[in-house]
Amino acid sequence: MSKQREGRPAPSIRTLFATSVVAITLVAALVTTALVRTAVRFETATTSIVRDAQSWALAGEVQLTLLMYQRISNLYTVTREPTLDETRDQVVVDLMRLLDTAEQYASSKEEQMLIDQVRRYFERYLDERAEIEAMELDFADVLARTQEALAETVDLLEQLHDLNEAQVFAAQMEAVRWNRLAVIVAALSASVLAGGLLFIAIGAHRYVLRPILELHDTIERFRKGSEGARMPQRGLREIQELVQRFNEMADVLTKQRERQLTFLAGIAHDLRSPLTAIKIGMQAIAEEQSVTRRNRAHAMLDRQIDRLARMVDDLLDATRIEAGRLDMRFENFDLRDVISDMIGLYAPTSPDHDIQAAIPEEPVVIAADSHRIEQVISNLLSNAIKFSPRGGPIRIALETAGDEVVLTVADQGIGIRPEDREEIFLPFQRSSADVAPGAGLGLSVVRRIVEAHGGYIDVEGEPLHGSVFRVVLPVGGASMPVDPPRPDESARP
Ligand code: ADP
Repeated sequence: MSKQREGRPAPSIRTLFATSVVAITLVAALVTTALVRTAVRFETATTSIVRDAQSWALAGEVQLTLLMYQRISNLYTVTREPTLDETRDQVVVDLMRLLDTAEQYASSKEEQMLIDQVRRYFERYLDERAEIEAMELDFADVLARTQEALAETVDLLEQLHDLNEAQVFAAQMEAVRWNRLAVIVAALSASVLAGGLLFIAIGAHRYVLRPILELHDTIERFRKGSEGARMPQRGLREIQELVQRFNEMADVLTKQRERQLTFLAGIAHDLRSPLTAIKIGMQAIAEEQSVTRRNRAHAMLDRQIDRLARMVDDLLDATRIEAGRLDMRFENFDLRDVISDMIGLYAPTSPDHDIQAAIPEEPVVIAADSHRIEQVISNLLSNAIKFSPRGGPIRIALETAGDEVVLTVADQGIGIRPEDREEIFLPFQRSSADVAPGAGLGLSVVRRIVEAHGGYIDVEGEPLHGSVFRVVLPVGGASMPVDPPRPDESARP
């Protein structure tokens, strides 16, 4: 399996997607706020320009109207023509209206005060002029006496004019500044957007697209038969998980293929040995004159046929387990009887082994499938014999513990490595193929049978110091459906 990269775990697609969405939304919100603010400020500045320009023009118009008033008044002073008096009254109304309008357009306190002052000075000028005209003075005197008030009003209008001019320029500068800022914000946001998109595109290519294409290639290579095709973990978390799943699946498939081959080799080997023995036995029976030797050959034939039958039974059971079906017939029986029968069956087959039993005096009745339990004990005993090639004692013990019975089969054979203790209960797993022939199915069938009774089986012992298999069964029995094998067990031939 590929090595996982050290360091921080890769971010997930979901996290990255959420972060990108949040970042883009934030940038968009910031850019929009900045653009809206600059647009508003720009509009305010433009409106100020228009307004101040109007005020500027109005200040000029008021000045002209004032001068016009003075001209008409001077003419009136000389001619005393009543229509001129009416006309200048109309001019006063116009001037006042102009000042009203200027007041509306005023954009500062200072401007407002100046307009008020203009209005007051103009009224004072009107009053003074009316008084002086009533004195019936000559034209030059009237002109001289009204000159000062008029000059002061004109002077104020001049100030108003200058102020408006300054305000127009200031507003213009402001508008230019905001306009420039808007251009900078737009350029910046365009660069950020382009940069962000480039970053996302590079990231997507490197951490999503490339690993997916690589995974696709690896799957394709594996599919075409390259068993070692695996992919190192790359990309975002979900892709890494996908890669890990593929690597695990490829490992399982490769292992399964290896097991199938081992299984076929084991079956072929196991079939060949009894078949060869049967053939030799048949020849011996045909040619042998001595009755004793013929009887021995018969016994040997019998054993080999039993061995073949057991293999076929194991294969059938394994197939049933694979299909998720194992028939069970529960009944009450004394477990001691089954143990004695099995010892009676196996003891004569191996004189090098001394099978000892430690069973209670009183009956140990359990509710179970006696045939299957027989199969379990038979398997454990035959394994104990098979894997103790130098002979030695084999102890079979039975005891009750509460509602459970505990059956142990201990030998002093080759033992089992700690790392193989779980594995040997899987189908087609054999850790000592060189010691004795077999298909590696017996213990997997045994475990299934024990579990189907609601019990469990385990093993202890060290290599070269023998093994102790322990079966724990409930006294009452439990008719449990046999589950189809777990994925790691499904190594179908
Ligand atoms: P088989 O006996 O056909 O190999 P089993 O499923 O009965 O298949 O056993 C699986 C493996 O477990 C054996 O190949 C052997 O390596 C190991 N094993 C079983 N019983 C013993 C035992 N009593 N002592 C040592 N190893 C054992």
